[in-house]
Parts: sequence; C-alpha cells; structure tokens
Amino acid sequence: MTANLLDYDLEGLAAFCEQLGEKRFRATQLFRWIHQKGATNFDQMTDLAKSLREKLPSRACIEGPKVVSRHDSLDGTVKWLFDVGAGDVIETVFIPESDRGTLCISSQAGCAVGCRFCSTGHQGFSRNLTTAEILGQLWFAEHTLRREFGRQERVISNVVMMGMGEPLQNYSQLLPALRVMLDDHGYGLSRRRVTVSTSGVVPMIDRLAQDCPVALAVSLHAPEDGLRSNLVPLNKKYPIAELLQACARYQLAAPRDFITFEYCMLEGVNDQPEQARQLVKLLQEHAALGLSAKVNLIPFNPFPASGLKRSDMAQVMAFSKILLDAGIVTTVRKTRGDDIDAACGQLAGDVQDRTGVQQRMASQRQGMLGGIKVVVAKEVGV
Ligand code: SAH
Ligand code: SF4
Repeated sequence: MTANLLDYDLEGLAAFCEQLGEKRFRATQLFRWIHQKGATNFDQMTDLAKSLREKLPSRACIEGPKVVSRHDSLDGTVKWLFDVGAGDVIETVFIPESDRGTLCISSQAGCAVGCRFCSTGHQGFSRNLTTAEILGQLWFAEHTLRREFGRQERVISNVVMMGMGEPLQNYSQLLPALRVMLDDHGYGLSRRRVTVSTSGVVPMIDRLAQDCPVALAVSLHAPEDGLRSNLVPLNKKYPIAELLQACARYQLAAPRDFITFEYCMLEGVNDQPEQARQLVKLLQEHAALGLSAKVNLIPFNPFPASGLKRSDMAQVMAFSKILLDAGIVTTVRKTRGDDIDAACGQLAGDVQDRTGVQQRMASQRQGMLGGIKVVVAKEVGV
C-alpha cells in the first residue's frame, strides 16, 4: 500500500523510513522537502540518499486534498472547498491581515456535536478527517499562496482549527497534524499561533495540555447550563463548571495569556444584559482557580433552519461594555470576505441526499474566524 507522507509527523516519518530499511535521520530531509519546500515529487529531492529516492515512488506519495472550488474575496480572503471523497466536501479559509496570515482549517466532514446555531451541526457527522487531510489543507494553502505571491518565506503565520468539525473529537488524527505545524523542520509555528477551538470535550482538553499545549479557544455561548445544554448539546455531558475547571488546569499546565471564550450573539437568546452579568460572575469565580479569560463576541451568521436571529450591533456593544467594565478583555469579531460568502455569507447548492433525491439545500457552515462565515456545500452519496 502507498503511504501518504502528509499523514506523518517527524517521528512517524522516521519510523516509515526505518521500515524501508533507511536510516531514521533521513526522515528530517524528506520532511523538510515536503513541508518547507512543498515538494510533491521525489525527483525534486536532489539531496536525498539515492537508495531512499528510488524506494519512495513505489511505496509513498505526497497527496494534498482535491480542490472543488476556490473563491477570492476583494479583501484578500481566499476560501477553498476540497473534495474528500464519498461526496464529502470540507472548507479551508485564508485570511490575510497586515501583520499575519491566518488559515482556518477543518477537522471533520460534518460534526456530531449538533450545536443549534451551527449549520455544520445541523448537517450531522460524516467522518473524521485523516492527519493527511487536516495537514494537507495547510500544506496546500501555504505552498499555493507562496507560489502566487512569489514568496520564499512563509505566508501563513497562524492556524485556527475553527473550520468544520470538532477537533477534539478527532484527537488521534489532529495531534500529529499539530506537531507538524509546530515542528521547526515543518511549519515552525509557535504554540501561541496555533489555536484549537472546541465546544468543550473536557478529557481531551486535559490530553492536549499534556501532549501539545497550543492556544485554546472554547465555544461557550451561554453563561449557565440550562441554556448552554440547549445550544451546545455536549454541555449535558461536560457542564460549564467542569469545562471551566479543565480550562484552568490547561492554563496551569501550559501558561497562556488567555483562553478565548467564543460567544455567538443570538437575539433574545443569550444576548441580554443580565446574561452578560452572569458571564462576568462565572469568569470571575473561575479566575480564582487560575483561569484568565478573554471573550470574543461573534455576531451570529443566520441560516434558515436554525430559527435564530443575529443580535443587533447595539445589543452586542451593550453586552461587550458590561464585560469590559468588569475588566474582562472582550473583542467583537469583524467580518471578512463577504463578497465570496466566506464572511457572513452563505453558499447554497444543489446537492443530493443519501437516497439520491435531488434537493435544494442551503448547506452552510458559518461563523468562523474573524466573523468569517464559511460555507460547506455537501454532496452526499452522489
Ligand atoms: N467545533 C469547534 C470549532 C469549529 S466552530 C467549536 O465549536 O469550537 C468555530 C466557531 O464558529 C465556534 O466558536 C462556533 O461556535 C462558531 N459558529 C458556528 N456556527 C456559527 C454561526 N452560525 N454564526 C457564528 N458563529 C458560529
Ligand atoms: Fe460542531 Fe463546532 Fe458547529 Fe458545534 S459549533 S456543531 S462543535 S462545528
């Protein structure tokens, strides 16, 4: 069987080289060719031992995700849709800013958590992405953009796991991908520039603290359990107090400036001044346990099936002021890439369901980084 080398972190690649009867240290050269130079072809790897170069083509490949479409925004935001087989499509978004380039990556096709305000949640779970499919999004975007910008040095300085899926429900495939992002022979990103966003898979937050303590963002969305369980069903399993205690442990194990709490502003649901005060109280109580929190208010990107509405800006600002007055660092997400439906837009496509019935489905994925609403059109069972 041919191994896709995008599936391995450096340790894994060393083990693979050993299986081929090659010295482990050869893996470093190979790894650098793949991730630092974006090589797709073993012939390019001129300084690689000849014996290894000869073995590789029959045993291995370097295969990124297949592009379905690309959309370029006037503000520079780029969104790709990738076909990962069996009708599943995932999305990746590049967001350029003056001081950074951020890539928003998907971890699953669909999502099993089923949050009410998230169209991926409404769509249901299809499958976990492999390490190669997670990392392939970065590999592809970095080297495509470098070529286009005519740059030798890196274009993507930050990665956020805020695309489709719950990254901590795909931990075993996520971890090697994170390791390659941080590896100096890979993308060399600092731990603070790689963010895992989670709806709160408590045991995996603890694992991540031990294995690879990158920056953590937690999708909170409500200041009390009743409402949070309604919005984020996983809360029934891991309620707020347990989640915030895990966050405090995370910070003890891996001191960060802040853990970011994401809070999607839903009109009349979680956006009332009283709820802002509850949130202040909650975060202050946990500060005593070592938690330092930052809040990111996200204007909701509506989609019809949700039955929910976006809070108006005055409501968002009033909510934000209560947090700020209490000394909590609070930001409101801005919108990018509107013109390509990567920001607060949506993509509606003709897709088929598993029974093959043609349906008009607004299959949207919304509300990612920077107010970017990224969208996934999913063709199921075609
Ligand atoms: N599953 C992970 C990461 C992907 S979702 C998580 O839930 O954290 C990334 C962010 O987008 C989360 O904060 C999520 O709450 C937010 N989001 C999802 N749907 C949204 C929508 N319709 N409008 C605004 N934000 C949304
Ligand atoms: Fe899954 Fe995150 Fe969407 Fe919730 S918000 S359904 S956890 S992708």
